[in-house]
Amino acid sequence: MNEPVFLRRYQQVEKNELLPRYRITSLVPVSFEKTSSIEKLWDIHQMKMQDYRKLLASIDANGYDPHLSNHKSSLLDLKIAIIQKMLENCCFCERRCGVNRKENHKGYCRVGSVSGYASELLHTGEEPELVPSHTIFFTGCVFSCIYCQNWDIATHPETGKIADPLELVKLIEKRHIQGSKNVNFVTPTPHPHTVLRIIRNLSVNIPVIWNSNMYHSKEVADLLEGVVDVYLADLRYGNDECADKYSKVKNYMQVVTENLTRAYSDAEILLRHLVLPGHIDCCTRPAVKWVAEHIPHIRFNLMFQYAPHYLAYKYPEMNRYLNRQEMEKAVEIVLSSGLEDILL
Ligand code: SF4
Repeated sequence: MNEPVFLRRYQQVEKNELLPRYRITSLVPVSFEKTSSIEKLWDIHQMKMQDYRKLLASIDANGYDPHLSNHKSSLLDLKIAIIQKMLENCCFCERRCGVNRKENHKGYCRVGSVSGYASELLHTGEEPELVPSHTIFFTGCVFSCIYCQNWDIATHPETGKIADPLELVKLIEKRHIQGSKNVNFVTPTPHPHTVLRIIRNLSVNIPVIWNSNMYHSKEVADLLEGVVDVYLADLRYGNDECADKYSKVKNYMQVVTENLTRAYSDAEILLRHLVLPGHIDCCTRPAVKWVAEHIPHIRFNLMFQYAPHYLAYKYPEMNRYLNRQEMEKAVEIVLSSGLEDILL
């Protein structure tokens, strides 16, 4: 196993030596009216994020001043007020459906106002530095991958349990006592309004993991700064055509690479690349090249777990497992890329 190099802050938070980012956000006082327009709330947010960035740098350098206390109204509350307004005209992801989810109208992801989750557990199968990870698997997804292994919960979000934020807070705190190193929100893209409410009520210091396809909107990226400690991020494709054909998603490269670039400056990244059969030259090669050129100081996990689930049988070229030559070629591409922290 490689020694982790680029998840240093995460590891310090996990050992309780530094504060998770959401705790620092909750130390920034903000006064605002919930009834203000969303434009006005965004203006305040932009201003107060400067205070957050200064406080983060100061606390990381000098330690936490216990005289700093949580405020009645903090930057975290402002983020919640904004995301609630966004729910009325949903632009949580770059599909930008514009539906009023507060009135339970549903867009592409089929998720209404209330989030659901399929399961939560202490997961020991994630990357070594994350386990045991308290994974919470949300239902619904903004992608439609033809090989999805969780297609049942992705396409039928209504089958999940209701994700009551206060109930989940209790579960997160219980799992923390049982040894979880982090809370890991899986498929969170349609659910930032629920995640923020959960985090607002946590009373434990725990790193927050955003386990995501990275197709969220720029507005959500703005709100996640100061909330997420580690992006457990997918970069699956190396071009828009493959993304559209196999996940029914437009403008993939621009959206995902912009969000990865933003995540690189706002938090830490553990990046996953799932190698797809027959997609070494069109996807693996350009994806690895982009990472090495733009976000080199990350932990990179090359994954060979592809299996032809769900509708893959309708796509003959995807209806198989990887072969040995493809795996060796993918390893060679990553090892010669210049990336330093690679998990194979
Ligand atoms: S989160 Fe769902 S409803 Fe909102 S923009 Fe994305 S797909 Fe549409």
